[in-house]
Amino acid sequence: MIAPDLLELLVCPLCKKPLAAHPDGMPAEITGLQCTQCRRLYPVRDGIPIMLIDEAILEA
Ligand SMILES: [Zn+2]
Repeated sequence: MIAPDLLELLVCPLCKKPLAAHPDGMPAEITGLQCTQCRRLYPVRDGIPIMLIDEAILEA
């Protein structure tokens, strides 16, 4: 679970757009933050968002 105030500070490192905590259409077991612009999903591991473009998951 990501704190809402922390989420507000996080933006996509690629396009600087806000992230959605629970993206639609994603399987429930996938935890991550999705960019509202490029749709990259940044994984959250042990409660820590991995804000790296190389680690981001792109939807098929
Ligand atoms: Zn993006």
